[in-house]
Amino acid sequence: MLTRTKRTLLKAQKGGYAVGAFNINNMEIAHAIVEAAEREKAPVICQTSEGSLAYAGMDMLLAIGRQLGHASKVPVSLHLDHGTHLEVVREAIRAGYQSVMYDGSAHPFGRNVERTRAVVTLAHARGVSVEAELGAIAGIEDFVSVKQRNARLTNPERAREFVKKTKCDFLAVAIGTSHGAYKFKGRSRLDLSRLKEIRARVRVPLVLHGASSVPKSLVKTIEKHGGTLGEPMGVSDFDLRSAVKNGICKVNTDTDVRLAFTAGIRKVLKQEPDEFDPRKLLAPAYEEMVSIIRWKIRLLGSSGKA
Ligand SMILES: [Zn+2]
Repeated sequence: MLTRTKRTLLKAQKGGYAVGAFNINNMEIAHAIVEAAEREKAPVICQTSEGSLAYAGMDMLLAIGRQLGHASKVPVSLHLDHGTHLEVVREAIRAGYQSVMYDGSAHPFGRNVERTRAVVTLAHARGVSVEAELGAIAGIEDFVSVKQRNARLTNPERAREFVKKTKCDFLAVAIGTSHGAYKFKGRSRLDLSRLKEIRARVRVPLVLHGASSVPKSLVKTIEKHGGTLGEPMGVSDFDLRSAVKNGICKVNTDTDVRLAFTAGIRKVLKQEPDEFDPRKLLAPAYEEMVSIIRWKIRLLGSSGKA
């Protein structure tokens, strides 16, 4: 069933687990996410980035998500991921998403507060909840020095002030993860003591972005069948579990699902070079996605929580 994101995340916060939020770009990915959640009896969040909206259109992705949500036995929420353009965020609020993320983290603190507050007012009037971001979740390689890294990670005291002033429902924190498949090269990992300090000051559910694990098995499958990835690195299971233990209630994963999709496609194209039925080409990708999402759901502790 379609369920409010806030309800799902407050329940997760109380229960001490996190809900998986996975990005959708097409029907197969969305279907795999909901199927995995059903098999795990877990709540789940399907989210669309501005990139996916440019690719498939908001109406299309919302229709797919709604249909799957309505037909599902587990709670499914539709969420706008990283809305940086106010017109896209407004459109999503009107269109019927259960929650939106307004990402004003590139702006100075004062402007981020002001814009986030305006989005919250608009969203709450329609029963939509808002995720906001403070700090920079970038590529870890973007931080030249430790000092610079610390300056761009979420400041706990600022986080308290930010949530109080904006009245946002969830807060995405920068504690050392980065988007994409290349993380932590020669650097320290998640800043858990920072997370603990944020948790002590902020009551709303916290969100972790860039949490792909980049499983070696998928990387191997892709490379065995002609793909080249270099040396991708992901967040360790231990770090992810520790983050959940310390207050992370929503975990965003995109890259792992992309890797699973690619692994399935590469395998079938290599093994069945005369196959040209798109459904048969996509079936192994679907299975790979379902299995990685199920694994992730179990890791986050949300299995059986639907
Ligand atoms: Zn993100």
